[in-house]
Amino acid sequence: MPLRARPDIQPLCDVHFRPMLVVNLEGSDGSKWRLHACSDLNCSRHYSPEEGYFAVPGDCQVNPEGSLRMPCPADLTFMYLKSHHTGIQKDLWRCARIDCEHRELLPIACEAELK
Ligand SMILES: [Zn+2]
Ligand SMILES: [Zn+2]
Repeated sequence: MPLRARPDIQPLCDVHFRPMLVVNLEGSDGSKWRLHACSDLNCSRHYSPEEGYFAVPGDCQVNPEGSLRMPCPADLTFMYLKSHHTGIQKDLWRCARIDCEHRELLPIACEAELK
């Protein structure tokens, strides 16, 4: 069953905290993927509610294999990074499901913790 994700989510890159851009990919079986990609051209981080944060293999110097998955406790959809607060060292995560209002403040997911 396809996940009903909010159409208007604006995730931030979990490495650069830059806004991510929507990209549409088509799989070899004709399946459509709506992903969010970091706006830094040198960054290969992507996000989708089905997969969480992941790097497309091949060109990521930062953390080639690291994926970051924060499941929503209510429905296990992978949450996205909504805002980054350096002052309080916390990130605001939000569930991407259209009918879920879950959000959570978590300690900043820094690169060191991804390894
Ligand atoms: Zn990035
Ligand atoms: Zn949820």
